[in-house]
Amino acid sequence: MTTPIVPPLDFSSFYNVINGELTTTATTRHGINPATEGPNPEVPASTPTDVEAAVSAAKSVFPQWAATPWDERRAAIKKYAEALEREQEGFARLLVHEQGKPLQFARKEIIDSVRWLREIADLNLVEEVIREDEESQTIVRYTPIGVTVGIVPWNYPVVLACGKIAPALITGNPIIIKPSPFTPYCALKLAELAQPYFPPGVFQALSGDDNLGPWLTAHPEVGKISFTGSTETGKKVMDSASRRLARVTLELGGNDAAIICPDVDIETAAPTVATLAFLNSGQICIAVKRVYVHESIYNQFRDKVIEYIRTFKVNTDDDAFMGPLQNKMQFERVNDLVHDIGSQGYLAATGESEMPKTGYFIKPTIEEPFGPVVPLLSWSSEDEVIRRVNDTKMGLGASVWSRDIDRAAELARRIEAGSVWINKHVAIDPHVPFAGHKGSGIGCEWGIEGLKTFCNVQALFLQKSKA
Ligand code: NAD
Repeated sequence: MTTPIVPPLDFSSFYNVINGELTTTATTRHGINPATEGPNPEVPASTPTDVEAAVSAAKSVFPQWAATPWDERRAAIKKYAEALEREQEGFARLLVHEQGKPLQFARKEIIDSVRWLREIADLNLVEEVIREDEESQTIVRYTPIGVTVGIVPWNYPVVLACGKIAPALITGNPIIIKPSPFTPYCALKLAELAQPYFPPGVFQALSGDDNLGPWLTAHPEVGKISFTGSTETGKKVMDSASRRLARVTLELGGNDAAIICPDVDIETAAPTVATLAFLNSGQICIAVKRVYVHESIYNQFRDKVIEYIRTFKVNTDDDAFMGPLQNKMQFERVNDLVHDIGSQGYLAATGESEMPKTGYFIKPTIEEPFGPVVPLLSWSSEDEVIRRVNDTKMGLGASVWSRDIDRAAELARRIEAGSVWINKHVAIDPHVPFAGHKGSGIGCEWGIEGLKTFCNVQALFLQKSKA
């Protein structure tokens, strides 16, 4: 495949991408820049006609794309990753405007997105010979499902989209990306950028209001929905998909705990845990959301965390640690929680960075003994802390912090969560399946296991003797 000559992307106007074409709608809408509270550019507000056109284009191209050899699909995704790498600065700056994260983290998200595309395209889903003898051979193989839809939230709109795009495309499925109405911009540009590398209809994107998700999940020709978002919306997606037994992967909310053992080096562990709790202004499904500190070091650990969060720079600078919350609704929710801590008489410690006058900024807040921002709790026995950590309907991630890796690993094995880390948290990898236990999700994404979720399983029984 030759590399097409494509002009640099224009990051000021935004279109749906349907059947290889850039289209818009009679009525448009816009997101809000969370740092300035001013409007971002207009984007399409897709209608049922747009949904119909995109699904029908994906359906038409499916047999062709499914029949394209794996290596060719891989080569196309690699070229596309190269294009994204070339355009990384434009995407990063656009991401700051729509999502609010400081430029240094926006750049990292784009670099991670390129990595996710490349590394997932490197994977192979090979046929497995399960049984073989002189008479017969039994093979398990994986076939693409058909039209897929990727529904993406507003906290990591680029890397989470790429984490659906690459597995769908490499396994032979066309995909329609539906970004959050709060953050539609980068997703539309991701699809626009892709057009020279894939046949029309293979990679499409639709932006819209709250109606668009339900229209897509209810569409009879959509065979698979890969959804990342809240647990409540995940249940609606599953309900809609269940009517026709469409496949779903649900990556939902988390309530991640970090268990701090008595032997940690407080000087390094406390700042690291604080960073992993407040990264992306705490808007990460796998951010540390509860910290259980052993009672013997509770005070020292707490003091170090507080000292550290007071150094966080919270503003719109490129090198700030925390930007604004992404949207007004989330800002008001968290603000209410912070006020509630005070009115309940709990002790809250906040950062000292001077707050910008506009934008959805909130000071980093630590409180004890329990609260909604990042509660710092104490524990005394291992059985007790494991019981408390598992006593939640969520099961996304968790971590154990200790110098004794074996002991920490033993504790980690008792935690009910899809990802468990020792001495780190929020560490994800395109080669490793990412899954939620309990209310945090169904199925998984990424790695070989993630590729399988974009496929049907087929058992092929070959009888060698002539019929
Ligand atoms: P959300 O559930 O409100 O929205 C997610 C997406 O679903 C958006 O694109 C939205 O437009 C769409 N949507 C809304 N209603 C729908 C419906 N009825 N049918 C189909 N689609 C619909 O979530 P959010 O507020 O955008 O994101 C924050 C949540 O996402 C948090 O709970 C966070 O923990 C979770 N999250 C999970 C992961 C993970 O991998 N497990 C990663 C990031 C975020």
